[in-house]
Amino acid sequence: MLIPKRSYAGLKDSYLFYNIAQKVNAYAKENPGCKLYRLGVGDVTQPLSPSVIAALREGVEDQSKAETFHGYMPECGAPFLRAEIAKFYRARGVDIADDEVFCSGGASDELGDLLDLFETQNRALVIEPAYPAYVDANIMAGREIVHLEAGEYNDFLPLPDENKVAEIIYICSPSNPTGAVYDREKLKKWVDFANEHGAVILFDAAYEAFIEEKDVPHSIFEIDGAKTCAIEICSLSKTAGFTGTRFGYTVIPKALIREGMSFNDMWVRNRTTKTNGISYIIQKGASAVFTPQGREEVARLIAVYKKNAQTLMKVFEEAGIKYFGGKNAPYIWIKCPYGMTGWEFFDYLLHKVQVVGTPGEGFGKCGEGYFRFSTFASPSDTEAAAKKLSELFCERQK
Ligand code: PLP
Repeated sequence: MLIPKRSYAGLKDSYLFYNIAQKVNAYAKENPGCKLYRLGVGDVTQPLSPSVIAALREGVEDQSKAETFHGYMPECGAPFLRAEIAKFYRARGVDIADDEVFCSGGASDELGDLLDLFETQNRALVIEPAYPAYVDANIMAGREIVHLEAGEYNDFLPLPDENKVAEIIYICSPSNPTGAVYDREKLKKWVDFANEHGAVILFDAAYEAFIEEKDVPHSIFEIDGAKTCAIEICSLSKTAGFTGTRFGYTVIPKALIREGMSFNDMWVRNRTTKTNGISYIIQKGASAVFTPQGREEVARLIAVYKKNAQTLMKVFEEAGIKYFGGKNAPYIWIKCPYGMTGWEFFDYLLHKVQVVGTPGEGFGKCGEGYFRFSTFASPSDTEAAAKKLSELFCERQK
């Protein structure tokens, strides 16, 4: 008899984004033609930069001629791109070898696929509020979740706790949704903890490019000891506008060994079995991001979203609403005002000013009473939404 994967029965419905879509659609139907300001989802709005477009075009051109045509690409990534990414790390003072870099179709795919490397009986520690996929991917795999709470009392940056031990540890820094970012000292505590317990940290660096503060690590491999306990998952989605183009990269140091098994070797074996590589054209486009010109363009793209963050933070500041993040991350995490829950605040904003955000409870139980704003909308929508929010908060204060 066929037995379906039973762990799927333990998944909660992804009610968050479903509920948001239902509420927004119902509102749009009742109010046809009404402009909505979508500051909920974390999707980007700025187009790919000129050097990426030029490289993608070059890639297409290469595919049109027999002499430059590429068929299947190497499963772990094109050597030219692995070399450029490793060089990018080295330029930041992190010594990574080319074959410690793996190209991926994005961080989401990779965060799910990497779980192939761990037995089901390993537990996964998730710092919540968290990107929902960490919990769901592990529940699908049949794994037990150890929840570690982040809150205002620990600046949303909990430290290791001997009562909350797991073999797989997720750290997202800068964090989606809170925008909190681990400094060297705190990250070192996690690295030491993982090494002591033989755990592996899955370090999600999807938002590293948004770090503004000087001494904050962009990579966990800036911390001594990380090469024996961490895998770093990166993405060009938010850095360079690749949400629809799809490219990411993962660093698995050769020094990461458990029970005599090398995670780097295991991942090579996994990729060469389960993928046929990333499209040549996309890898060509991605390579432009690591050139000096590409880095300048990335900085310009990020500046657009940072300006949006400034615009929104000013509104919360003036209204006396407590907020977090926005500085080293493209998300602003606010404490819901007027004693509202996340969903009440959601409805309030939708009906009063047509601004759509995300209720904090969608990121874990301890997100209740908070609300996330994304800074990825267009500048004109962000400005207009900020004006409406400001007027609303002002009116309420009268
Ligand atoms: N990790 C975090 C923390 C994210 O917020 C996201 C996307 O929003 C991802 C990973 C997935 O990124 P990608 O588009 O590369 O799949």
